[in-house]
Amino acid sequence: MAGSKGNCYMCGKELGSAAMINHIIKEHLPEEGQECRLLKIEGAYCKDYWLYADVPVSSSLSSLDGFLRKIWLECCGHLSAFRSRYGQVVGKTRKIGEFNTGDQLLHEYDFGDTTETLITFIGVSYRKQQRGVRLLARNIPMVFTCCECGKQADYINAGDYESPNPFYCGNCAEKDEEIYEMSLPITNSPRMGVCGYAGETDTYAFDPKALTKDGKKSKN
Ligand SMILES: [Zn+2]
Ligand SMILES: [Zn+2]
Ligand SMILES: [Zn+2]
Repeated sequence: MAGSKGNCYMCGKELGSAAMINHIIKEHLPEEGQECRLLKIEGAYCKDYWLYADVPVSSSLSSLDGFLRKIWLECCGHLSAFRSRYGQVVGKTRKIGEFNTGDQLLHEYDFGDTTETLITFIGVSYRKQQRGVRLLARNIPMVFTCCECGKQADYINAGDYESPNPFYCGNCAEKDEEIYEMSLPITNSPRMGVCGYAGETDTYAFDPKALTKDGKKSKN
């Protein structure tokens, strides 16, 4: 799998995930300011969903949990947990600064129909502004085709979300009452099609008009 492309949220550039982090470090991250940990966040089982973010060392894992719920996970307030590579639960009061480059955490949302997210600490970053989790890059939403007519799909049949092509356009979904009732919107999230996930709290869609531009390195 070649991997999906994404957008840099500071300049809009489109790159694959490995090239993206090199681009961000080279072009956008100053060498002083508030110390953060640079994170790669990806679907544990579908790595086409990926994010880069930086989080201040003084923030706790609960801020990261809040961010993951907002961008990717929240459907009906399920429980969640972080686990170490060895499976032990890692408390949400732990500070981001306690983790080092190379550490990995697995985040689980909903202990029934669990969505698992892999978090890798990939380095240290600095930034000027004092706030919580900052999104640096995100994969471009995937486009799916309707299994009936081949047009661009709008929905996923949640009753059958593990089938090879559970996607439907609005017209075709409406033709079958059973499918229509089980339909959930297509979302840019590894939780698409699970439980009642509809992506309502995801306010992080890429908008070229809202580039943050902050943290840009000054060019000599
Ligand atoms: Zn950029
Ligand atoms: Zn739910
Ligand atoms: Zn169709």
